[in-house]
Amino acid sequence: MTISVPAARDVKPGRLAPEEYSTNFSDLHPPLDRHEAFVEADRCYFCYDAPCMNACPTSIDIPLFIRQIAADNPTGAAKTILKSNIMGGMCARVCPTETLCEEVCVREVAEGKPVKIGQLQRYATDHLMETASTHPFTRAEPTGKRVAVVGAGPAGLSCAHRLAALGHEVTVFDAREKAGGLNEYGIAAYKSVDGFAQAELDFILGLGGIEIKASTALGRDIALSDLTADFDAVFLGMGLPGVNDLGLEGEDAEGCIDAVDYIAKLRQTDDLASLPVGRRVVVIGGGMTAIDVATQVKLLGAEDVTICYRRGQEAMNASEYEQEVAKTAGVTIRHWLKPKSLLRGEGGAIVGIELEYTAQPNGQLIGTGETMILPADQVFKAIGQTFDAGPLAGTDIRLEKGRILTDEKRRTSLAKVWAGGDCIFGGEDLTVVSVEDGKIAAMDIHAALMGGS
Ligand SMILES: Cc1cc2nc3c(=O)[nH]c(=O)nc-3n(C[C@H](O)[C@H](O)[C@H](O)COP(=O)(O)OP(=O)(O)OC[C@H]3O[C@@H](n4cnc5c(N)ncnc54)[C@H](O)[C@@H]3O)c2cc1C
Ligand code: SF4
Repeated sequence: MTISVPAARDVKPGRLAPEEYSTNFSDLHPPLDRHEAFVEADRCYFCYDAPCMNACPTSIDIPLFIRQIAADNPTGAAKTILKSNIMGGMCARVCPTETLCEEVCVREVAEGKPVKIGQLQRYATDHLMETASTHPFTRAEPTGKRVAVVGAGPAGLSCAHRLAALGHEVTVFDAREKAGGLNEYGIAAYKSVDGFAQAELDFILGLGGIEIKASTALGRDIALSDLTADFDAVFLGMGLPGVNDLGLEGEDAEGCIDAVDYIAKLRQTDDLASLPVGRRVVVIGGGMTAIDVATQVKLLGAEDVTICYRRGQEAMNASEYEQEVAKTAGVTIRHWLKPKSLLRGEGGAIVGIELEYTAQPNGQLIGTGETMILPADQVFKAIGQTFDAGPLAGTDIRLEKGRILTDEKRRTSLAKVWAGGDCIFGGEDLTVVSVEDGKIAAMDIHAALMGGS
């Protein structure tokens, strides 16, 4: 559809003054200093059978580490955290604590003001990573067993670290140039500043026993049958490399952009001023990716950014807090709208989007037939990622709803192969859940290799 309604496209890099980039992309939550950490730790009741600990997917002993901070032992606190979650540093930055530990904190329930568990966790783990000269854990005696891990994201690295600590030799294969998965390529830039993803990767590898083979993709450079033949066990933590399409004509037009792809470029560039940014931007979606791309594009200088989501506010996957972050940055969130057609101008590039109002009369989402048009120089697609099962073709690995089916120990339907993180069915698509999956699988791989189960 070609229309002449919206003005000429306005997409350009460098919309801001140089100093505005560093201000806009600075730490979302500046770290607590020692005094602030003491004050916050003092607010904890050190609850028996602490609800915060039960709400943590990695079961960190939260009251214990807060008590250690209160006793001015941040190194001990960090060890308590890292024993349960080797990515405690990244999780302190990216966990939606408002829907996990802090949501159930008794201080939240009683006063609406939880103990800042995430901030305290960051205080302790940052302290250890900045001050420790050696890795805090040591490896068990070598077992002589070798394990292949596919995917160097949170799931794969967590699995690799636990296995290496238990004395196994681990080789991690990743399709990308850099390890870290979405910690390196996906998390919003203002949540993980100063190259923290690579610093944490180096910290994890500091244990020893883990070799990373980057730019090596399963299905392209290696086959699963090679790995099962050459290694004693295999863990798959391949995440969700694909994205859902809008299903509209013209999705390949200039200006219609995959949000995850754009965020990866944003995370990898040395010069934020080089990224092309529209004056008017529309984002389609209701999850963390939609919020993150909208917020970051606004912070890059877009004048008018609107998220359009097809259901109501309460159905959005992004937490209320995440939505607040976007709104504070100046993003508008509109509900009950779904994309109907992409509007293209001269040369076929995007100049706007037609949206249809929606309703849910009997629990079923329908288009009402009423439409509206938003001018847009860029339309970002953020309606979910998909698993690419191509590399598993011809194997006996069963899928469920497009993702790998595993049991509670993260065993797949193929002998010697485990899986975890976003690529498995039933996951929650959170960093902390992926870390836990990797840990669960590692413990079961260890039991299988040592006990023969
Ligand atoms: C934009 C965005 C923002 C997010 N923000 C947050 C947040 O703030 N907080 C939060 O908790 N969660 C967030 N998430 C979700 C979180 O990042 C994921 O749940 C988590 O990274 C999943 O870990 P994983 O190890 O399963 O997969 P990934 O992190 O995706 O890592 C998978 C790895 O496998 C590699 N790989 C894929 N295919 C192959 C192959 N064939 N061969 C070899 N290697 C392969 C990839 O290159 C990648 O390195 C966000 C997700 C996105 C997309
Ligand atoms: S629920 Fe809150 S007060 Fe109780 S132990 Fe956890 S952090 Fe402390």
